[in-house]
Amino acid sequence: MLRVTQSNSAARAKSYYSTADYYTEGQELVGLWRGKGAARLKLSGMIDRDDWDLLCDNRQPETGEALTPRRKDERRVGYDFNFHCPKSVSLLYGLTQDQRILQAFRESVEATMEDIEAESKARVRRGGKNEDRLTGNLAWGEFVHFTARPEDGVPDPHLHAHCFVFNGTFDEQEDRWKAVQVGDIKRDAPYFEAVFHSRFARRLEELGLETRRTVNGWELTGIAPETLTTFSRRTARIEKLAKARGITNPDAKAELGAQTRSGKAKEMSMPELNHLWRSRMTEQELASLDAVRRRVGRDPIGEDDRAALGAVERAMAHSFERASVLPERTFLAEALRQGYGVASRETIERLAGKQPLIRATRDGRQLVTSLEVLEEEKAMLRFAREGRGTCRPIHLGTITFPVKNFSEEQKRAVRHVVTSKDRVVLIRGAAGAGKTSMMKVARDVSVAIAAENVILAAGTIGTTRILLNSAKTTPAIANPRIGKGLILHPSVPLIGIFDKTIKLLEGLDSATFVEAFGVTPGFIFETMGGLPAYGALLVPGNGKQVYETVSQFNQCAGFGTMLVDTPSDDNCVSLDEQGDVMVQYGLSDSDKQRLRTGVAIGIRMMFMAGAKQVIIPSNENFLNQENFDPMVGVYLTDIAQADLVERNLNFTPNRTLLTAAHLQATNKMSSSPETGVVSKHQRVWNVLTGTEIPNLYIMDSSIFPTSVGANPMQTIYTFAYIFSKRLLQGMA
Ligand SMILES: Cc1cc2nc3c(=O)[nH]c(=O)nc-3n(C[C@H](O)[C@H](O)[C@H](O)COP(=O)(O)OP(=O)(O)OC[C@H]3O[C@@H](n4cnc5c(N)ncnc54)[C@H](O)[C@@H]3O)c2cc1C
Repeated sequence: MLRVTQSNSAARAKSYYSTADYYTEGQELVGLWRGKGAARLKLSGMIDRDDWDLLCDNRQPETGEALTPRRKDERRVGYDFNFHCPKSVSLLYGLTQDQRILQAFRESVEATMEDIEAESKARVRRGGKNEDRLTGNLAWGEFVHFTARPEDGVPDPHLHAHCFVFNGTFDEQEDRWKAVQVGDIKRDAPYFEAVFHSRFARRLEELGLETRRTVNGWELTGIAPETLTTFSRRTARIEKLAKARGITNPDAKAELGAQTRSGKAKEMSMPELNHLWRSRMTEQELASLDAVRRRVGRDPIGEDDRAALGAVERAMAHSFERASVLPERTFLAEALRQGYGVASRETIERLAGKQPLIRATRDGRQLVTSLEVLEEEKAMLRFAREGRGTCRPIHLGTITFPVKNFSEEQKRAVRHVVTSKDRVVLIRGAAGAGKTSMMKVARDVSVAIAAENVILAAGTIGTTRILLNSAKTTPAIANPRIGKGLILHPSVPLIGIFDKTIKLLEGLDSATFVEAFGVTPGFIFETMGGLPAYGALLVPGNGKQVYETVSQFNQCAGFGTMLVDTPSDDNCVSLDEQGDVMVQYGLSDSDKQRLRTGVAIGIRMMFMAGAKQVIIPSNENFLNQENFDPMVGVYLTDIAQADLVERNLNFTPNRTLLTAAHLQATNKMSSSPETGVVSKHQRVWNVLTGTEIPNLYIMDSSIFPTSVGANPMQTIYTFAYIFSKRLLQGMA
């Protein structure tokens, strides 16, 4: 992250001067003068303490004269631009001291600071003007540090640089030094940060080090995330504190970092630290790091043109997803982030420049939008324009307004919305004018839809809810069979852990289906794939067990045993007092017995396919263990254990997890209203007359009379196809 911190204290600015001695290999390097402004002040090479202190006091080191006119104590002394390395690079450098890495870092920092310098400005006030003028020169000291502030007395490796920019820039036209105007630079800090990382990642790839993108940036490949966590103790502590205090804002977190900062651990030399750091790593971690180290300087990795184009295209998709117009640099920063490592900044920006963007300048800032966004906007305007006067008003009756604090203007707005004949209605109002409460009233007016036919297709639960709520005021549909006899194909997912790589997310995820047991005893096996989060949900046990299992995701296979369940009136969908749905479901004893057998066969199949471990989503004591602890997951390791599962698994609610994706049969089709809710023409029965309601239909999986005992989509399609054909032909 590139942080820019303002310093108003000469004393604090003086402390930036490094006391480290380059030749003693301390945790910092002696600072270097950088920038065209420094050159103009005849400052170059290593920083001399006296020169530094004079500049901090706003004096020119050569003459001792005042630099800029401002002499107040509260003067802005300068700005600290902070550049940080990804943790993997800090660790590699900390443990190898490979100067090529340090050089790549310093060059990337310097080049980015030069980009920033090129945009430096001073305020022009002469002749009644009040504007900024480009000066293009700055003076700064670059201080490179190798470690973070210590935790428990020992710092972690953390390669970073402080570039302290003095608050002075030379205005050639007025021939004098003035304060720097940093507003635009600070505003564009995320862009400069992306420029720095883009450069640095590419430089390392040119050195032969492969990089990978992470959520917030990039890291070197070959160093495991767990290793990085071991060496990020300070970040971990700040994050923990921030969480405890409910702090999420990055600036507030940085402030927290400053508050919790311990003094520097200067007494330790880099070789001492190197030894301590190595002692915290396992053999395997050291071997991985060594493999990465050996790559440095070997085979440069070239730019990947396709990946670069992909990065720019992803940036296009991402940038305009939420904003229709944005600063060009916001888009460029995103493109650079997407392309870290794969291509240089120049390549990414060249490709970004070729994108079909519409550009405009507002208040000196370049803004962009895309042709697609413009087209969308035009389409929206067209939609609104063509929809004028084409609709029936939503509501023409009386409207109940809140008694208190509801203005005449709000009432007028509500009436306008609900009685308009336009398809789109726009309300504009100042912040706090009451738009939200006005819209709540507009939203809650009752909507009457006049339709020749009403087709309910809200699913097994949704349709039942609508019917039960409607039945409260329409006795003709108040059929006691509504919601009764819910079937849901309860399933027990099984996870098998293999020695070999499986990669569940590659290829077809539901490719195998075994229906040999479908009719008798009545269960089906199906391969099941899921994301690691789904696996984590299913795996019983403590956090460590879950983590270890999910970490082996690429060696996991899954399939489920799906029961063809038996209808029972006790399994039903009903409503609570608020009219919200309640689902009640339990397995009968015979269904439990069949499912147990199915699960046991599934376990045996998994072992026979080569699994070393099989996990069932249950913390029941199905192996009859002594001293059984339900908080510790029991995983099967032997095919013979399937017999115990078949005997003991009880499907206890909240201890064994069943999944259900095939909800059906709550509004069964039947030849009479006594036994079902819809007729064979899919019309809802009128329970008062025993006849069909002519224009109220149901068309979803709730009309199945019994379990289909198979995945239901094709049956639903078939029903829907026949139904719509009949309806169109007036034969329903
Ligand atoms: C994870 C998962 C995997 C599955 N895999 C398969 C598979 O591989 N093969 C297969 O055949 N089946 C599969 N299914 C089952 C299949 O998706 C369902 O059986 C099927 O979608 C049910 O169709 P439906 O029309 O009855 O209801 P739904 O598809 O649920 O449609 C009902 C719609 O009505 C809407 N609705 C609800 N209430 C209201 C309301 N009051 N007003 C307006 N709209 C409302 C809902 O938002 C929903 O869009 C799977 C289901 C899940 C959850």
